[in-house]
Order: sequence, then C-alpha cells, then structure tokens
Amino acid sequence: MTKKNMRAKYFKIAVVVLALLMASGNVVLTKRIVRAQGPDLAGMDKSVDPGDDFFDYANGGWLKATQIPADRPSYGVFDAIAEKVNERTADLIKGAGKSANDPEARKIGDYYDAFMDENAIESKGLTPIKPELEEINRIASKSALAEVLGSELRADVDPLNSTNFYTDRLFGIWISPDFNNPTHNVAYLLQGGLGLPDRDNYLSAEKTDVELQGKYREHITTVLKLAQVSDPDAKAARIYDLERMIATAHASRTDSADVHKADNPWQLKDFPAKAPGLDWASYFKAAGLSNQPMIIVWQPGGVTGISALVEKQPLDVWKQYLTFHVIDRASGLLLKPFATERFKFYGTTVNGIPQQSERWKRAVNNTSAALGDAVGKLYVKRYFPAEAKEKIQAMVKNIIAAFGRRIDNLTWMSPATRAKAKAKLDTLYVGVGYPEHWRDYSGLKVMRDDPLGNDERSSLFDYQWSLSKLSRPVDKTEWWMTPQTVNAVNLPIQNGLNFPAAILNPPFFDPAADAVQNYGSIGATIGHEISHSFDDQGSQFDAHGRLLNWWTPQDAEHFRAAADRLAAEFDAYEPLPSVHVNGKLTLSENIADVAGLSVAYDAYRSAYGGKPSPDAQGFTADQRFFLAYAQSWRSKTRPEFLRVLLTTDGHAPDQYRADTVRNIDAWYQAFSIRSGGKLYLAPQDRVRVW
Ligand SMILES: [Zn+2]
Repeated sequence: MTKKNMRAKYFKIAVVVLALLMASGNVVLTKRIVRAQGPDLAGMDKSVDPGDDFFDYANGGWLKATQIPADRPSYGVFDAIAEKVNERTADLIKGAGKSANDPEARKIGDYYDAFMDENAIESKGLTPIKPELEEINRIASKSALAEVLGSELRADVDPLNSTNFYTDRLFGIWISPDFNNPTHNVAYLLQGGLGLPDRDNYLSAEKTDVELQGKYREHITTVLKLAQVSDPDAKAARIYDLERMIATAHASRTDSADVHKADNPWQLKDFPAKAPGLDWASYFKAAGLSNQPMIIVWQPGGVTGISALVEKQPLDVWKQYLTFHVIDRASGLLLKPFATERFKFYGTTVNGIPQQSERWKRAVNNTSAALGDAVGKLYVKRYFPAEAKEKIQAMVKNIIAAFGRRIDNLTWMSPATRAKAKAKLDTLYVGVGYPEHWRDYSGLKVMRDDPLGNDERSSLFDYQWSLSKLSRPVDKTEWWMTPQTVNAVNLPIQNGLNFPAAILNPPFFDPAADAVQNYGSIGATIGHEISHSFDDQGSQFDAHGRLLNWWTPQDAEHFRAAADRLAAEFDAYEPLPSVHVNGKLTLSENIADVAGLSVAYDAYRSAYGGKPSPDAQGFTADQRFFLAYAQSWRSKTRPEFLRVLLTTDGHAPDQYRADTVRNIDAWYQAFSIRSGGKLYLAPQDRVRVW
C-alpha cells in the first residue's frame, strides 16, 4: 500500500509546480492521445519487435511525434486527460464566481480572482509575510522557537495512502485511523524540514547532487537578497549547513516506506525523554495536539535527530532558517522576482521544466486544491453521469470476482491465509467517482484581495479539519482524493479504494469502447489498486485495517521469493546511463501492476461469458487488451525529472510498467513471442504473484 498512487507527484507540487498539471499542450496531440475506441494505430511503431520493447512497439509513433511541452517535466496519457479535466474545471471555477447567491461558489470565484490579481500582489510587496517574519524575529528562547515551529505544523504528509513523505516544515502530521487500533483516529508524526526533495540530495557525492547542492545554496542566497535580509551569503551557508544536518538525521526513503519501522506509538509525556532537545510541551500546545495521549512517530531516528539539533544549533541559525522558509514557501504568491526565482529553482533546476505554465492555469489548480470538494461537486454534477458510475461499478464487481477466483485457485496459499484474504476482499470499500459526503467549507475565510492569506488559511483550515477527526469516529468511506483528480488510490487502513471521476475518462475508460479496451486500461488500474490490499504491504493490514501480518510464514516466504525475482527484474533496467531502477523501492507498485494486469485479463475474458471476444483493427482481442494496457502508460519524461523520480518515487518509469506484460503467459501467446527477444522470460522466470 503505500504508494498506491498510480502516478508520481511532482516534487513540491502544492506550491511550485501545481500548474504543470494544467499546462497547455498541443491540441491536436491531445485529441489523438485521448481517442479511445481501440488501439491508436498511428501511435504504434510496428517496426519494433514487440518481444524486444513492447512499450516502443505500442507507442513508438507517438514517442517520435511528441515533444514534452516546455512548461512540463513529463507528458503522457495522464497529462492529456488532466488537460481535458482542467479545461472543464477552469470553466466551472470561472462560472462559479458569477453565481453570487451561493456562498460556496462565491468562495471558489474569489479564490481564483485573488490568485489572478497580479497588480494587487505587486502593490502589497512583502506586507503579506511581515507578521510571520516579525513573529520569527521576536523569538528569544528555545521555548518560543518550539511554539513557532508547532504553530507551523500542517497535515501535509500522507505516508500510506498517497505515500507523500515530503514537507519543508520541520515535521509533518497525518491524521488517520490508528493502525494498531483502527476504530479510532490518531496523529502520525513524520520527519521534514528539507528544501531539496530527499536527504540523498544533501548527502550524495554524485556529480548531479553536488551541483544541485551548490545551486540550492545560491537559491537560498538569492531569496534572502530579494527580501533584503542582511548578510545573505553567510546566512545562506548556515541555513544550508543546518539542512544538511537535518538530512543526516533523516531516515531513508526506503526505510520510510517500511510500515513496521513506523510502528512507534509514543506517549506524549515521553517525547522529552525519547527525543530530547525540542521543547515538546510548547510545540504540541502550539500545534493543538496537547490533549492527545499518544502520537505515532513514523521515523523515530529522524524525529530524535531533528529534536537534538533544535537544542544544539544556535537560536539565530534557526531563526534564519525559518525566515528563509517562510519567504521561500510564500514566493509563488509574492512579487514577481520571488515567483520567478522559485520557479527557476524548483521548476527548472530541480525538475528540469523550462517554462512555467500560464497563470490562469495555476490559479485553477490552486483553487481546485484549496476547495477540492466544492469544485468536485460541480465537476461530477456536470461530467459524471450515473450510467458511467454504474458501468464502472459493474467492472469493479467483475474484477473483484476474478481476484477471488485467483485466491481460491492458489496452490501455495494455506487455508488460513486464504480465508483471511477472502474476508478482506469481502469488506473492501470501493468508492467510484466522488465521496459519500462532501466537505463543508463554511469555516474557511476566502478574501478577494489576499491570495497568499487564502493559501495559508486553506492549509490551516485543512490542518484543523484533520485534527477534528481525532475526536470523531472513524469514517471508513472517507475519500483522500478529489473527484477532479486524475488518479486512483488504495487506502490500506480503511481497506478501501478511491477511483475519482476524473480518471474515468478516455482512453482509460470510455463508455463507448468495448470491454477489451476498457479492461486493458482502467480494468488493469482497478486490479492494480485492489491488489495493493494483498501485496507486500497490504498483507500487513487485516480486513479491519489493523497492522497485523495475517499471512503464515510459509505463505509470506513464497510471496517474498516471487517479490525478490520481480525486484531483480526491475533492478536490471537502466533508464539513464548507470542509473538503474530501484527494484526494492518500486516493488509494491510493480507487484500491483503484475497482479492488476493478470486479474483484468481474467475479468475481460469472463465479461464475454465464454463467447469469443471480437477481433478488430487487424488485432485479436487479446492483442488489443495488451495494446490498450501499454498505450495507457505512454509518456515521456525529462531526464532531470526522471532522476528525481528514480530516487524518490515508489513507481518505476512508465515504460517498464508497460513492459511488465512479459510476466503474463497470455501476452506470449497473443504476440507469438519467442525466446531471444529482450523482454523474453522463460516460463519459470515469469513472476506470478496471484
Ligand atoms: Zn499503486
């Protein structure tokens, strides 16, 4: 679980590159990529042997014809759908501002308008961040420092559902059912505090990282200079050194993904002894968490190390560090030179994106993020008819049944484990399209002339809403994605899945396409998400969402052996010179891909009830199924961004995800794949997890 997101997130998406999702693409290209009725023949490259490179065979024509738009780090099917969804969302948001009678619509309109009003932003200068900077300036003791740090805590991480481990605040919080006692909600505390994406960016001696380190130091200096902070060079050096020490304390990305290493319930009263340094009483009071008896500490080493640094490092250095991050975080909504510098560093240097997307697109995205359910309500009303929901629900039912048959037929699984697996499948919540209940935004203040304030109030509103869950019963049907998000997610503790309306668009899902096409694309995704409930990490959570290994040791051993082979298969891929895919980091996702594809294949065959499924466009039904799958992964990525993803993303690059067809017997038959091809695996080497 964990990394259930099908799609990687842009690093710092919330602040920096939100807009990328919406950037403009070539309209003709978009139309072609979104066509859906069958395989995109023009996008293929039939000169490639499918057994050598199936991704290229299915997508070579498209890859040659496509350029990544200048304002994006990558481009592919997800982006094309996102463009379409965002055009729709943009219309809804702009239209909402005109309906003055509806307070929620009014908020949507005001949020958007405020973001767009660049003249107002210019005329205000640095006034919007003055109160925060003055507050930092007034800090006169380590206790006062702890209060400010506590007041900055936000619900901006999510280690299990969306596998987002990153926050540039010192720590991040996630509120979710307690994985030791899922009948109530609890706070999980995660390490944070870095400006660069990962601790390895600070600690690695590789050339690209060393360059990045230098450029980050320059970025800190530039930001301080722009804000007319005195002695910027010396301060930037100290800020960087502090971050490097924080990075040294951090747990690695791979360790962070290990949920057993995260099972550290600490009594609140024990924090000072377990992680001395930070004045925890002041910190938790300011964060509104003092009344919690216990918090689960995700990375105890990271939290302990950071807390010790609060004590050891001089107060002045901490104040400089906080000053920089307040300005840096706000830069996107400050004066133009700040916004430009922010994009230049986080957009171009870190992610390789040459050009920032247009402002209105960023405004739409920010509004859609801040008022997610309010915008989502408008989206589904207009674009997600009841019949689409019914069709998907029928597919889900069919795929769950296929998964159940696979579990029944597993020869290696013990009866005890099998029974528990079936129980988990029976209680799975599958949310399709939109949440069962909508969020209420009446408590969020949105001002027409205060874009930065809107942004900050929105993240505070979100934090307080998250905290309020601590005193409410667990809602097993709670959604973690908005309906207008082109993605899907598995929620391990809730034993649930979300398939937002926005991903249920062509070519993933087209009500007009035949079953072969739909099962090969969205069907494999549905299977992928379901299988996360049963993969290396899903097997750690029982039907109730409790962190409990419900597999017998023998079952687990069999699974591990298959997983090890899959990890080795992916370790061998080398997307950049001497940079390999990390088979261990991407293991859960790769298992989910194999399982999802297998089960979608079964479900598509059963959808025809034993009758022959139709050939079309010169391909057999099985060929179309696998082509639909490989074409649903079509994308191109800039090398800089690819490098970030290879370090931080739990997903393998899309081309290798498409090539996982090499683990499925039916693919060999469908395309008459013989030994000797680059993707060929002997039958005993194909990884069969389910
Ligand atoms: Zn996944």
